[in-house]
Amino acid sequence: MAEINLNLDNQNIINDYFKDLTCDDYKESIFKGGQSFADQALNNLDISGYAKKRNNVYPSEKRGSSYLSPYIRHGLLSLKEVWNHVEKFKYEDKSKFRDELLWQEFSRHLYAIIGRKNREFLNFDIKNDPNEVVDTKKMNCIGTIENELESTGYMVNQTRMWYSSHQVFRSNKNWLESENYMYKHLIDGSRFGNRLGWHWVMGSQTGKIYGFSKFQVQKRAPKLCNECELMNNCPIENWPQVLSITNKELNIDLNLEKNFGPQSIQTSKDQPDFVWINGESLGDDDPALAELPNLPIIFVFDATLLKSLNLSTKRIIFLIEILKEISQKRSIKVYLDDPVNILSDKKFASTFAPVPKYKRITKIVKPTMEFPAKRLVEPINVYPRSFSSWRKKATIIS
Ligand SMILES: Cc1cc2nc3c(=O)[nH]c(=O)nc-3n(C[C@H](O)[C@H](O)[C@H](O)COP(=O)(O)OP(=O)(O)OC[C@H]3O[C@@H](n4cnc5c(N)ncnc54)[C@H](O)[C@@H]3O)c2cc1C
Repeated sequence: MAEINLNLDNQNIINDYFKDLTCDDYKESIFKGGQSFADQALNNLDISGYAKKRNNVYPSEKRGSSYLSPYIRHGLLSLKEVWNHVEKFKYEDKSKFRDELLWQEFSRHLYAIIGRKNREFLNFDIKNDPNEVVDTKKMNCIGTIENELESTGYMVNQTRMWYSSHQVFRSNKNWLESENYMYKHLIDGSRFGNRLGWHWVMGSQTGKIYGFSKFQVQKRAPKLCNECELMNNCPIENWPQVLSITNKELNIDLNLEKNFGPQSIQTSKDQPDFVWINGESLGDDDPALAELPNLPIIFVFDATLLKSLNLSTKRIIFLIEILKEISQKRSIKVYLDDPVNILSDKKFASTFAPVPKYKRITKIVKPTMEFPAKRLVEPINVYPRSFSSWRKKATIIS
C-alpha cells in the first residue's frame, strides 16, 4: 500500500508515484484543480452570447464555451448549482446553456442504466465504408485539434465532433481506441460524456451520422484551412459515406435502485470512521463530506485501473490539486492501491456514484452509511433511446 505524500510538489508526486502509470511526461493543463478554482470559475461565468458563440472554434478568443466541464465532471460544481447560477442571463443564452447541462445529466443517466454496455453500439449498428480512409498527417485541422487537446487538456464541443467523426469514418482504428486517446487527455474526460458524444457522432444512438468535412472548418475556423498545405487538395471535401445503418436492441436491466442508488440516506447500526471519496464527487458539497464534517477522508487512486487507462499526467495533476486543497481544510489520506484493499473491514461513509466502478467496489465492501447521488433530474426507470424522449419525461429537482 502506497500512501501519497501530498506535501511534495506536483512534479515529485508524479515522478514518485505515477511515472509508470501515465502516458506522457509531466504536463499541466490550463485548469487548476480545487474547490476555490471551481467557485471562482462559476463566479466569473458570463454566458452572454452563448447561444450564438457556442460553436465558435478558432480563434479561441471568439469562443462562447464556459470551460466549466472539469469542475462539473468531478463534482466540484453540481449541475443544479450551475443551472441556478445562470438564472440572471437572457432567455436565449440561458435556455441553450441549460440544454447542454441537461445533455450532461442525460449522459450520466444513460450510463447509470447501461454502464459498460456503452462500449457497444446503442440503437443502431453502423458499418463504415473502407474506401473513406484518409491519412491525417498533413491535415492542419486534425493536427491543430490534437495539439490543443494534448497541450491544454480541453476541446470545445465542435472539435470533439470533428475529431471523433474523422476517426470513426475515415480511419482504420476501432472507435474505442480513438475514444480512449481523447479520454486520456481531456481533464473533463468521463466514460459517460465521452462515449455518448462518440455514439451521437457515429449515429449509433440516433441512426444519423455526423459527417465532418472542409465545410465546417471553413465556417468555424477558416484560418486552419487558409494555412493548410492541403487547402487546394483537401481530402475531406465531402461528407464520408457509410455502408449501412441497421436497427439493434440493447439488453437492459431496469432496476431503479441498482442503477441510480438509494433515494435516502442508508444507515446501519455502526457509525462510520471516515468518508471515502472518489473522482465522481470531490466537491465540498459532496453529501457525505458535507453531512459528516468532522470525519477524516480517504481517497484511493486505483493502481490497477490507472495502469490500464494510462492517463495523461495533466489529469492526475488536476486531481492531486483538488486533494491538496481538501487537505488544507480536513484530515485526508490519499493512497495508490486497490480501493477494495483499503476499504475492506472498515466502517466508512460514501456518496453513491451511478458508475460501474463504484457499484463493483461497494458490492464487495459495503458502506456503513451511504448518501444518495446529487443530480439535476429525477431518475426515470426507462431506457431512453434519445435525448428528446428523455427530455420530455425529465423533471428538474427543485
Ligand atoms: C465526441 C465527444 C466527446 C465528449 N466528451 C466529453 C467528456 O468526456 N466529458 C464531458 O463532460 N463532456 C464531453 N462532451 C460534451 C461536450 O463537448 C463538453 O461537455 C463541453 O465541450 C465542455 O466544455 P465547456 O464546459 O466549455 O462547455 P459549455 O458549452 O460551456 O457547456 C457547459 C456544460 O454543459 C455540459 N455540456 C455541454 N455540451 C455537452 C454535450 N454535448 N454533452 C454533454 N454535456 C455537455 C458540460 O457539463 C459543460 O461543462 C463530448 C462531446 C463529444 C461530441
